[in-house]
Amino acid sequence: MSVPSASGGGIKPQVTTRSIMADATQLDVLAIFSHPDDAELTVAGTLLKLKALGYRTGIADMTRGEMGTRGTPDIRAKEALDAARVMNLDARVNLALPDGHLALNEESKLAVARILRKHQPKLVFTSHWDDPHPDHAATAHIVREAARLATMRRYDKDYGTNPIKMPAVAHAVYSRLVVPSFIVDVSDFAEKKMEAIRAYASQFYLADSKEPETRIAQKGFLRQIVDRARYYGSLIGAEDGEPFYVREALNVDDPMALLTRPMNIYS
Ligand SMILES: [Zn+2]
Repeated sequence: MSVPSASGGGIKPQVTTRSIMADATQLDVLAIFSHPDDAELTVAGTLLKLKALGYRTGIADMTRGEMGTRGTPDIRAKEALDAARVMNLDARVNLALPDGHLALNEESKLAVARILRKHQPKLVFTSHWDDPHPDHAATAHIVREAARLATMRRYDKDYGTNPIKMPAVAHAVYSRLVVPSFIVDVSDFAEKKMEAIRAYASQFYLADSKEPETRIAQKGFLRQIVDRARYYGSLIGAEDGEPFYVREALNVDDPMALLTRPMNIYS
């Protein structure tokens, strides 16, 4: 879709969004990650838990994963839909931005701002900027800026969407150098998370696969994902956990309720 102008600056980015499943309009939480399967690998347990608590959940994939060594964009779109069904998502969309070339520019900010305005999430999950994959690091910056831009009344006003209240942004932690602000106990959803990940059969280990070997297709990779969840779970005295970093100070209403939950003093 061609748009006249992002913000009056004369730039004319092409923005195309593909809904790969019927997408509900209002979401409580939206996970925005670079490639199909990134959200599953990092926050699927938390999305499953939030869904079980009655919240409306969705995933926006920034790219179709066309740079991937294994699989094709069509195969990955089908796998993303299968994973969405496993997670019982209310929406899954693909922003069709260029895989391997994600950058903080008008095109990417506009695409993310529009998806935020469409779904109006109160909470957004994304990657952290300290990530060795350039697309993941770029996505963290794009999401932060787009979330702010989406609140501005005159930004992209010709497109016809309304400004939103700034959503909270929580970054999924992967680097050991990033100290989590909180860890979600996802013990009850660990199995289902792995089922969602295994929906990406083209990407991960299959004994008889003829596809070229990649880091994430090695036999040990899925075990590492399980091990990570166990490690972060151990930090809060739970079986499985998913870690998040929030840049802003957390506004705590009831410190008793927060701090008397089970913890691990050796964390
Ligand atoms: Zn990725």
